[in-house]
Amino acid sequence: MINFQQVSKTYPGGHRALEKVNFHIKPGELAFLTGHSGAGKSTLLKLISLMERPSAGNVFINGVDLNKVNSRQIPYARRDIGIIFQNHRLLERHTVFDNVALPLIIEGTHHNQIAKRVHGALDKVGLIDKVKCHPSMLSGGEQQRVGIARAIVNSPPILLADEPTGNLDPELSMEILRLFEDFNKHGTTVLIATHDLGLVARMKYRSLTLKDGRMLQDPLAQEVL
Ligand code: ADP
Ligand code: ADP
Repeated sequence: MINFQQVSKTYPGGHRALEKVNFHIKPGELAFLTGHSGAGKSTLLKLISLMERPSAGNVFINGVDLNKVNSRQIPYARRDIGIIFQNHRLLERHTVFDNVALPLIIEGTHHNQIAKRVHGALDKVGLIDKVKCHPSMLSGGEQQRVGIARAIVNSPPILLADEPTGNLDPELSMEILRLFEDFNKHGTTVLIATHDLGLVARMKYRSLTLKDGRMLQDPLAQEVL
């Protein structure tokens, strides 16, 4: 599903963020991506979501070599991927409904499908009663759940999360992770970048670790080579 082969990323200015990274995540897997701040976690997620391009190596998503996806094809390739950010990046002047509907509007989904799917997504994260609210009226945990609803509203097979619990207390963090677990149980492949090792330890899932842009030994990484 997600396959990195000898992937390196050097940013303009010469900073090497990733160095010959290899790993493979199977369809239906849930995995954590850990590592210190600056280890390269966000960069790795950005390569999967085509927000950045590798300097060397290949990223395969669903068997498609992303090096072969040209800039015009990027919006289509991204449909397979839902992304959740730490600071949720909600549009403050729009309602919860409009925020969650955004990916569908961008995709050109027919309007009579939109309401149904937005309500479905909000139902999954337990926020159906907040549909008319503006983000500022919601708690931090609720805002994060709106971000999750927006990420899953078009049922992407892959869900990426970049420090999704960064601003939340431990109890809310577990709640958010249980949501990811739930999506995963329904078949979504999930990759969660976090530096919260306590949280990772409480869940029994595979954990990939980056250190200074290199992937530390992972028993399953060998499979790729
Ligand atoms: P993490 O998510 O693990 O904190 P990042 O992937 O954000 O790590 O960053 C990895 C390294 O790449 C850091 O040293 C960071 O400063 C650098 N970096 C990230 N984005 C850029 C950029 N757009 N331009 C230059 N350097 C960057
Ligand atoms: P899965 O979706 O089962 O996890 P991958 O996404 O890793 O599998 O790979 C699916 C397909 O992608 C492979 O069957 C192959 O066609 C192509 N692929 C993966 N790695 C390579 C590679 N190194 N070179 C060429 N094609 C590859």
